[in-house]
Amino acid sequence: MTTDPFKLPGTFWRGNIHTHSTRSDGVLDPKEVARRYKAEGYDFLAITDHFLGRFDYPLTDISSCEDEHFATILGAELHTGAMENGEIWHILAVGLPADFTPANVSDFQPEGDHETGPEIAQRARDAGAFVAVAHPDWSQMTLADAASIEAAHAVEVYNHGCFAGCDRGYGFHIYERLLASGRKLTLCATDDAHFNEPDYFGGWVMVKAETNTSEALLAALKDGAFYSSTGPEFHDVVWGEDQVEVATSAVSTVILQGKSTRTVVRHGNSMTRTVLSFDKLAVSPWLRVTIVDAAGKRAWTNPVWRS
Ligand SMILES: [Zn+2]
Ligand SMILES: [Zn+2]
Repeated sequence: MTTDPFKLPGTFWRGNIHTHSTRSDGVLDPKEVARRYKAEGYDFLAITDHFLGRFDYPLTDISSCEDEHFATILGAELHTGAMENGEIWHILAVGLPADFTPANVSDFQPEGDHETGPEIAQRARDAGAFVAVAHPDWSQMTLADAASIEAAHAVEVYNHGCFAGCDRGYGFHIYERLLASGRKLTLCATDDAHFNEPDYFGGWVMVKAETNTSEALLAALKDGAFYSSTGPEFHDVVWGEDQVEVATSAVSTVILQGKSTRTVVRHGNSMTRTVLSFDKLAVSPWLRVTIVDAAGKRAWTNPVWRS
């Protein structure tokens, strides 16, 4: 399920995979949203409007904004069924077919006869989408809630809109509990931009693919061939028998994490090449790397699972 993107041929393409427009509760026309992402240097964008009856179940197609430097992927944020707290599910689905069947949910209110969150997530995955559990902290979901989305490829561990709007932007606690339970999930950072507050250009994915096309990007997302960032860049990550060597843009901190309360960390000034030995994490079934720059911006690799 996860592929080491640093071993693959191709280029890292920068994209935002969680975005809203006037087709739901965003404030900008879809084409203006695409124009702004393109102008900011993004390589691709998925607009993921709220897939609800009150918005006429939008699947916002911005393929007319594509050019040789900018790709788009059809997607939506799916809502149906209740989490343990009684609130409706928010599930990110990128790469949906244009005829994806709605769940007969008119508004952000779950009702007893609605399809469940796990059911619509499975339908989306079966239809070919990359599926992510959206903003766990903002949703106030339980570990059991998150675990129930068996169709998920990923957990949204950074949501810039939730960070900017209510300081509930992260999802690492739920994510790492799922990893500890044995789930092989990737992590993603997104904007969830509505453009009604400073919720844009703050969290993105860097997807490794040979071409910047919807098909190649979607396949790479589902394979885990990407990393996530709010600023710094990974240039290379080389996993050895007992150490990892990380080449990055200038960073102040490099952290190795695994299935343990222990971590391995290096702090320094303008570090661009860092070697971390696994030490007490050598027995962890998975390992991942976090980098932090001088401004406090972060980037995260997906985990690698060790045989
Ligand atoms: Zn949401
Ligand atoms: Zn959203």
